[in-house]
Amino acid sequence: MSFSELPHAARIGFLLGQRDYLIADGATGTNLFSRGLETGDAPELWNTDHPDRIRDHHRCMVEAGADIILTNSFGGTRHRMKLHKSQHRVAELNTNAARLAREIADAAGRPVLVAGSMGPTGEIMAPVGELDPDDAVAALREQADALAAGGADLLWIETMSSSEEAQAAIEGGRACGLPIVCTMTFDTNGRTMMGLTPEAAAAFYDACQPPLAGCGANCGNGLGELIAAVAGIAGAADPSRVLVAKGNCGVPEYVEGEIRYTGTPELMKTYARLARDAGARIVGGCCGSTPEHIAALVEALAGYTPGPCPDLPAIEEALGLQRVAPKPGGPRKRNSRRGN
Ligand SMILES: [Zn+2]
Repeated sequence: MSFSELPHAARIGFLLGQRDYLIADGATGTNLFSRGLETGDAPELWNTDHPDRIRDHHRCMVEAGADIILTNSFGGTRHRMKLHKSQHRVAELNTNAARLAREIADAAGRPVLVAGSMGPTGEIMAPVGELDPDDAVAALREQADALAAGGADLLWIETMSSSEEAQAAIEGGRACGLPIVCTMTFDTNGRTMMGLTPEAAAAFYDACQPPLAGCGANCGNGLGELIAAVAGIAGAADPSRVLVAKGNCGVPEYVEGEIRYTGTPELMKTYARLARDAGARIVGGCCGSTPEHIAALVEALAGYTPGPCPDLPAIEEALGLQRVAPKPGGPRKRNSRRGN
């Protein structure tokens, strides 16, 4: 059976059975800003307002060599869409997000997976915060079902910082029957904002039922931190896990009032090889990563044989480490665009 004849839910397993690694795409936010998105706008509204710009973004990532493209739906839950008075449009916007990516993936002429991106609700789960777990599951299910209806091959839960919210997203996503990838963001001194270590995340991932199709780390504080997190998960998780590395393109800097990322294609090549050394089978970019950076990942990994898992000094030497102390006052709501 050819790839395009397979049911959506069978596709990621099929491709991973054929390939040592897959390339995931780069940033959504960054690449929509360069197409005219303004700070404070909801990117998800572009799934109906500017579908050509979304198609163009996906097409550029596919042309750069991405095997997995993420839908423009990171902030597509009712909690996030409420900030834009569009909470009643969750089904429409997420279904469209998946349809647009599906269209480009199907025209690629080679297997490309459509991953339905699901980010945090921006609320903090009870008892620390006010988000009721049942409400979270319902909101994430609403989003997941819409992504599945639009033709996603899998769900891609990303930028999670607590196991409670990741669990709610997995529960919400499970109903539609698609495979689930889950990644967390280790941006606070080697831990997630809610204090989870890579080792604790590994235990969480290992306990998920049915098993996750992939798990790992995304976003965060520079590429060294990302690799350190993936290496930490690799050292603690069941070795049969499919590990995912999706790091920001260096660290953000404010230049002339806008955020720019410091990573170069050369740095992304170093990162890609270290990600494979650390055990990642899916390697992509997060914030700041343009098609040029994704093409660099493709180039770096073609014919590359992974070496031993790097230790912290080796990671620091190659990519630097940006350890920052936890913010005083504990976890905060995160409604900024940072995330994917
Ligand atoms: Zn990011």
